[in-house]
Amino acid sequence: MHNRYITGTWLSMVKELENNKVQGVSLNLLFKVVVGNGRAVKFWLDPWVLPEPLLMGFPLLFALEKRKSCLVAKRVGFEGRWDWYRRPRSEAEIKEWRRLCRLLDEVSLNSNTDSWKWRGDEKHGFSVKGMKKLLIKEKDFSDKLIFKWVRWVPKKCNIFVWKAVMDRVPTMVSLQARNCFTGDVNCGMCNMGPESIDHLLCHCHIAIEVWNAVSFWCHTAPIFFFDVKDIVDIHKHVGAGKEKRKILKGIVWTTCWCIWKAKNDRRFNEIEANPVEIIHNIKSLGFLWFKSRSQRKGISWEKWYKFDVC
Ligand SMILES: [Zn+2]
Repeated sequence: MHNRYITGTWLSMVKELENNKVQGVSLNLLFKVVVGNGRAVKFWLDPWVLPEPLLMGFPLLFALEKRKSCLVAKRVGFEGRWDWYRRPRSEAEIKEWRRLCRLLDEVSLNSNTDSWKWRGDEKHGFSVKGMKKLLIKEKDFSDKLIFKWVRWVPKKCNIFVWKAVMDRVPTMVSLQARNCFTGDVNCGMCNMGPESIDHLLCHCHIAIEVWNAVSFWCHTAPIFFFDVKDIVDIHKHVGAGKEKRKILKGIVWTTCWCIWKAKNDRRFNEIEANPVEIIHNIKSLGFLWFKSRSQRKGISWEKWYKFDVC
């Protein structure tokens, strides 16, 4: 099988493979999309107009997008419409917006079905053998998650993140799946989508705003997740040095903890979930934990607040 382009069954296979990873890269990134009518390709999540998915280059706009998995045809061309939580308005958002519009000016859809081109072996194209070889060689064991605890955050926080990654925390969706709940399953924070653990920690627009603020505070590349499993080693992929990574990992754990708390506060105490409040909690709780539980007891609030830690 040496087809240069992959369609139909192959496409559904590729879709199935989205969650598998080779050396930390989703397998769908090993396929390049050739867009036709844009009805099979995800606008933000698939690599189509650039070598990387658009969410990587346009994280602020992605945070505003209401339907994170929307198709290209829903955003570009004849049927294309934007669907934001609110319109881009900050200077940085407008800048991204202009850049995206310029990029999309170059795009035109046609009547062909979308196809996927294998990046694995340009010379011979896609082959089942080649794929098998790659999978065996780089077999990903993420299901049997190796979970290293962070020493400077409390046990309850480590356990929470571990359970979250295994999808064992009581979200509305998981309660419903276990027949423990039959009411409204919408997110406790934004009320705009089913409250799964992926939604709550990764895709909820409030969580996305919080992660943006965390990356801004810690001077890293944008932090975002395809799903909750990515949380485990995100600290390795945002351009932080060795020392900073260790601290960042604890901050990621603390952030998950604070988002979960904010959701509970909203649901049980009717306290509005506010990204600014959440990031403030992350900084102060993180400071408390880091100062009392790490080797760096002398760290000052001023330094912590500016993330001047290495
Ligand atoms: Zn939400």
